[in-house]
Amino acid sequence: MSNRYADEWSPDSWKRKPVSQQIKYGNSEALAQVIDKLRQLPPLVSATEVDSLKSHIADAQAGKAFILQGGDCAESFSDCNAEAISQKVRLLMSLSLLVSQQTKKPVVRIGRIAGQYAKPRSELTETQDQTTLPSYRGDLVNHVHFSESSRMPDPARMLQGYSYASLTLNYIRSLLEGDISDLFQLEQESQNLLSLKTNAKLHQSLDQFREAMRLFHQANGPQHNSRHWLEFFTSHEALHLHYEEALTRKANNGKWYNLSTHYPWVGMRTTIQDSAHIEYLRGIANPIAIKVGKNLSPETLVELCKVLNPNNEAGRLTLIQRFGHQSIAQVLPDMIKAVQAAELKVLWSCDPMHGNTRVSANGIKTRDFLHIQSELQQAFEIHATHHSHLGGVHLEMTAEAVMECVGGSYGVTEQELDKAYTSLVDPRLNAAQVFELIDSIEQKQQH
Ligand code: PEP
Ligand code: MN
Repeated sequence: MSNRYADEWSPDSWKRKPVSQQIKYGNSEALAQVIDKLRQLPPLVSATEVDSLKSHIADAQAGKAFILQGGDCAESFSDCNAEAISQKVRLLMSLSLLVSQQTKKPVVRIGRIAGQYAKPRSELTETQDQTTLPSYRGDLVNHVHFSESSRMPDPARMLQGYSYASLTLNYIRSLLEGDISDLFQLEQESQNLLSLKTNAKLHQSLDQFREAMRLFHQANGPQHNSRHWLEFFTSHEALHLHYEEALTRKANNGKWYNLSTHYPWVGMRTTIQDSAHIEYLRGIANPIAIKVGKNLSPETLVELCKVLNPNNEAGRLTLIQRFGHQSIAQVLPDMIKAVQAAELKVLWSCDPMHGNTRVSANGIKTRDFLHIQSELQQAFEIHATHHSHLGGVHLEMTAEAVMECVGGSYGVTEQELDKAYTSLVDPRLNAAQVFELIDSIEQKQQH
């Protein structure tokens, strides 16, 4: 292997490498001031929490736990309010019960939350009514509103993003300290979903969920002080490297950590050999993940794993596969074999969302429930066939009663997509769809 990464790492050594998806700010002095300020602000998470997540991921790698990672495609600053945060936490906590029931494993919950504010884009500009403007790049960078001033990147948004992430995390921590039964209920959301559309399968999913809750309470009794049951971790795409660098801190153990989140990942568009994003990721001590798309060759994947996890440390590296239901069977086996041949310790997680995005007849970005379900099912089966195993799932989902993905027993049609679509970027599964998806896992696994 080449020694392209032989140079010493530092939090800003990424600047020596090509940066894709880079944001061009008009005022470099304003950018420098923001970065300087961010550097002085306290970290958002602790190295101890980060290390603890790494050991859970090592457990998942060993088949002793399962990772559930999910949330919005793009978190918005305006969603930093009690109801929205509580809804997101309750969805993930409740869903984790069903995942645990289906996989028969303890589940580690990780939100795409408290910092999921930067978005990579395939198209860097967007045209509406013959006006072309820069694309929305996430609330950390610009505003989604389609006007020149809104789309102008503003470095001050990084300070806002830091504050909103901090407020979100603070509220999550307070929820986790509160009454546990509040955390595992979805009553309000269920009402909303039921009033939109009812059907037998949805009721069945919800009944099953309530049964899981009843069993949980029966087995565990009132849970007030059980740290394990209430663990909740945060993650976001480490895309905006100026921001990530400013929140990278040296811990007492002498290692550098990204302390803006527990579990940063690098997206598919920036998972590039010898790039700024890989350079940044390789030097931090967090558990890290990369998105693996169908165009990454097995050879490059192995090289990347060696760069990112040179000591082959358990729990360090997660591969989030996202191929699409039609490609997974073709590309996954060779990747699994290459990772096995190199004896690499990785956790495989399946993102069945991003390879299945399509545009509906009326021009709206959507995903089909059946495609998502098919990719997830195939993921379990292909890993099992190749003596590997799938240890996690990565989903875009919301407890809001949205209609963004089509299909499922909940029955959203293409024509309904403009009725309840609030995602800023990619379509999410609503609670009924995500429960149905997880519900289907075990049935397929048992075959
Ligand atoms: C995402 O997770 O929102 C995303 C953009 O994914 P990917 O990098 O896999 O396309
Ligand atoms: Mn997305």
